[in-house]
Amino acid sequence: MAKQSSEVYRGQRGKEKRALFACFRVRVIQDAYRARFFELFEGRRFKCGLPEKLEPELDKPPVLCIDHHIPMALGGHLVPGNLVSLCRNCNTRKLDSPPEAFYIPEELRKLKPLLETQKALFTFRFDEDRWMSDRETYLLDLGVHPTIVRNVLNDENHRHYVGYPCEESRIGITLSFDSIRNSSFIHKKDDSCDYENSDSH
Ligand SMILES: [Zn+2]
Repeated sequence: MAKQSSEVYRGQRGKEKRALFACFRVRVIQDAYRARFFELFEGRRFKCGLPEKLEPELDKPPVLCIDHHIPMALGGHLVPGNLVSLCRNCNTRKLDSPPEAFYIPEELRKLKPLLETQKALFTFRFDEDRWMSDRETYLLDLGVHPTIVRNVLNDENHRHYVGYPCEESRIGITLSFDSIRNSSFIHKKDDSCDYENSDSH
């Protein structure tokens, strides 16, 4: 029996997920932009319209699921312009189907602008100077909720804790950036990637 594509592409999928969000550098910014991505879909799973639980409780990890519009089996990648918010059920039903086989024409028409506008989110450029000089103002300016900003700066047990910049961390951060360039995030504490639970084909 042929392996399911979800198994075949598991490694590649993980790699693409990390690459997709690498531009945000830190998890708290990544989360803010992920929320924005789902706002493009009006906080709903595209096909069936199930609501996303974006912020059931403030500052809890969102449960999100991103589907490859063109599936990996057909050469699609987890890149801006090929991302759709789908629920797990729809995602499983879609599996390796081309979009035209899964969506009705009206849905495809609705999807087209959403695939376009999502690209702007991923042009984000991390401002290392602002991050190292005043990350509180930087995060607030990026639209991160003030409560979340307060928590990631002060609560060492927060899953995205970053603390305040200081000389010591400046050196540490610079080194990390050099060693992870192109491929990864700064991993603070546990690496709780909510996407690990989502199937994206
Ligand atoms: Zn669905």
